[in-house]
Parts: sequence; structure tokens; C-alpha cells
Amino acid sequence: MKFNRKGIHVRRSGSNVRFGLCCLAALAAAAECSAPLQAQTAACPTPAAHSPDETAAASAADDASPANNSLAAKAPIAEYRSKHFLVRTDLAKDRADALVERLEATLRIVEKYWGRPSRGRIECYVVDDLANWSDDALPHPLARVLVGGVGGATVVRSQREGKRIKHKPEVYASARPGVAEHESVHAYCTSAFGATGPDWYREGMADRAYYHRHGERDVQLPPDTMASLKQGKRRTLHEIVNRGRITGELSQSVDKLLAEHEADRQIQGLSGEAKNVPLEAWRPEHEQDVKTARESYLWSWALCHLLCENPNYAPRFRALGLGYLTGQSAKFEQAFDAVSREMSFEYDLFLQHVEQGYRVDLCVWDWNKSFLSAAERTAIVASVSAARGYQPSGLKVRAGERIAYAASGAWTLDAEGDALSADGAAGGRGRLVGALFDEFKLSEPFELGARGAFTAPAAGKLYLRCRDDWGSLADNRGVVSVRFSTPEERQESSDR
Ligand SMILES: [Zn+2]
Repeated sequence: MKFNRKGIHVRRSGSNVRFGLCCLAALAAAAECSAPLQAQTAACPTPAAHSPDETAAASAADDASPANNSLAAKAPIAEYRSKHFLVRTDLAKDRADALVERLEATLRIVEKYWGRPSRGRIECYVVDDLANWSDDALPHPLARVLVGGVGGATVVRSQREGKRIKHKPEVYASARPGVAEHESVHAYCTSAFGATGPDWYREGMADRAYYHRHGERDVQLPPDTMASLKQGKRRTLHEIVNRGRITGELSQSVDKLLAEHEADRQIQGLSGEAKNVPLEAWRPEHEQDVKTARESYLWSWALCHLLCENPNYAPRFRALGLGYLTGQSAKFEQAFDAVSREMSFEYDLFLQHVEQGYRVDLCVWDWNKSFLSAAERTAIVASVSAARGYQPSGLKVRAGERIAYAASGAWTLDAEGDALSADGAAGGRGRLVGALFDEFKLSEPFELGARGAFTAPAAGKLYLRCRDDWGSLADNRGVVSVRFSTPEERQESSDR
């Protein structure tokens, strides 16, 4: 056995095939469930997942033969082939078909994003219940631990073919929705590029396939994951991208399990192909490694999601990623040097406002709009869309300046909602609000409405929006035009 920085490598006797543990998808349920692991059952079922009880009940129902009553019924393992995948799974056919469809959909998204076709079929082992699988059916010796303890992993077989080294990914995943999709992103990067990028990028991009597995643009996180993002210690951009090996501890833990297992076998005089490390070897203390890795995954996802969805940074981010995958010396800080303050500002805003349903693309900051100060101003009319976050008014104000405005037009807060003026509804929803931007800081919002005047609480550029929950902007309709008085008009009105 040989260790290197990529993790564990198992040398199979008589061949030059090597297995490298390239990724550990320590996914939600394994990390968030505190129940102790039961040997030979899938790690920790989530409510959405197929529970072992259901599996047992379904299997028992299938198994009507009296002769088999004393035996635990096992679901058969079947093989499913699609254009890009060869999936072996113990899922029932309808669930397996749905899984293969989701994997193909994920692949379409990543091929389009990274612009390179996947090579060859990706082999996947998707496990609903480990009890259905013999050791022979799971080729990697750590498969039980990877599926039952960690959640999933992509193992890379590097094979020399003449002068070229071919990287063949193999996916091990629990059947919980999203896990195989996450792993398939690693497998695609491995097969198409032979690389997956730095840990934060690799896991953040793969978790996009987990959280947005139906191609949704809005944020939908499990409630406790959302709570970690909102209430946990906030990581800076620098901390996220310089985290190093975020699965390091976990990799070491599973490396160690395999080493111990092989040593035990030698002591017992067992030779030949190593049988799988049993799930009993996975102990509660390993859960902490999973939890630690999961925290880093979440912050990596947050940054990758923001940069993929925000057109201010998306092209640069894609180019950076391609640099990572094609082995150029791409550096995050270098790529975003020219816009680092803008990006930090939008990242902070994202963390401040993110909630279920939040749409990064609707809350993009417009950095290009020109703003006029009092001396330069003629009449300014700003257009404010109800379905967007803060939008630039074009008006630059001094602290204490008094400004009159009038808004015309109407908007609605959902598809069927009543048309509202910029005064909004009772309770303040739908009301026109403003905030002042200065030196990459945004003031607290202050209320405007359909008509009136306000005294600028500070100096800055005025941004406007329709007040609504940050997670429900997408279904808003309508635009309101806001006209701000010119200095002359204000002079006239104060002379009267
Ligand atoms: Zn992963």
C-alpha cells in the first residue's frame, strides 16, 4: 500500500491499477444525524431517504415464498446503463431509473458549464441498504465505510496506457438524493480533465449539484444547514479559499481504517484480495471528522454558488475553474484582484440576506450605473423592479440633504397578488425602501413610499427596492418609476 498526498492508494497485486481516494462527499444526513451507526445498514437515513424499515417491509412483501421466511430478504443488485453512466444499485427499478435520469441531467449541466465532454461511462455503486451487498459486489475495500459512514466518495483508478495515464473514476454513494449527483461532478472532472481543482472548489462545485439537483437557481438548504450558514462563525473569502485539504482529517481516518483492517488480516494469516472493511469499524469519533468537513463544504458551496450565479463574477470564476482543472497555475486572489472589494461586499450582502428561496441573480449589485450629485443633477427618474434586490437610483446625496420624490406605477408581491403602489400593503410589505451605499458599506434601509420627502441620514449613493422577503422576490411583478426633485425644484418649493 502506498500513501501520497491524494489519499489512500491500494495497489492490486498483478496489475498496475491503483485506487486513489480523491474525494469524500460527507453529505448531510451522515453529518447531521446523531444516531449511532448500525452495522450493515445505510448510515443515517434522512426523512427524505428510504429508511431501512421501509426497505425491509418492501423486501418482505416481495418475498412471499414460505421457504425463504427464515432468511432476510435481499433486494437484488441490478445494472443500469445510460449514455454516460453504468449504475449498479439495489434500488427498485423506478427509483433506479429516476436516479440515472438525475445523473444524466447533472452531467448535461456540468458538460455545458465546463465545456468539455465526459469521457467513457462513469461507474457508480449506489447503495440503498448495505445488507444487500456482498463484499464481491463492492470492489473498493473501503466501500462500506464510504457509503455507510461518510456518505459517498469518488475513487480514481489511474491506469498507465503506454505513455498516457488514464484516470477512471468510480463512484460509491448512498442512495440519499443528491449524493450520487455530488459524486458524479467529481467523476466528470476526473474523466474530462484528469483533475478536480483545490478542495474548496471541488467540493463547493459538487455541492451545487447536491443542493440544486433539479437545476434550481434559488437557495434551498436543509434547515440546520441554513442555520449554520446564518448563525455559525462567518468565514471570509480568504478563509474559504485558503482552507487547504478540507477532507484531510476524514481521509486520514479512512486511510487508517484500511491500514488497521489489512494489519488484522495479516495477523490472522488471511491472504489474497482484501475483503471490505466492515462498517463496524466506523466509530462515532469519525462523525466529528465528517462534521468538520461538512462545515467547510458549506462555506465552499456558498462561495461557488455566489460566483456561479452572479454575472459580475461568473465569467471570471468559470475561467479560474478551467485554470484549476487544466493544471494552470490559477490563483483565486489574482483572478479577482481588480474586483476584490466589490466581491467582498456582495458576499457579505449574500450572507446577510440569504434564506430559503434566495436568488443571487436577482440581487446582483449594479456597479456600472453613474450617479449624479446635487450640483450635476437635472431631473432623475429611477426605475425599480419589484423582483430585484437593491437597484441604483442614480442619485448621490449629502448627509442631511432633503429630497422630495414621487413614485408612479404598481407592483405585486406574488403572481396572484393585488397591485400595490410604492406605499405597499399594511405591515410594510411592498413599500419602496432606500439605503445609502458609501465606501463599500450599505446603510440600514429607510422607508420611502409613493410620494414624499426624506432627509438623507448619511452621504452616499441611493439604492432602492420593493420591500419583500429576500427569499420570495422571484414571483414579484411590476416596475415603479421614482422621480426625484431637482435642486431648482427644491429651491422653488422652499421659496413658496
Ligand atoms: Zn465531494
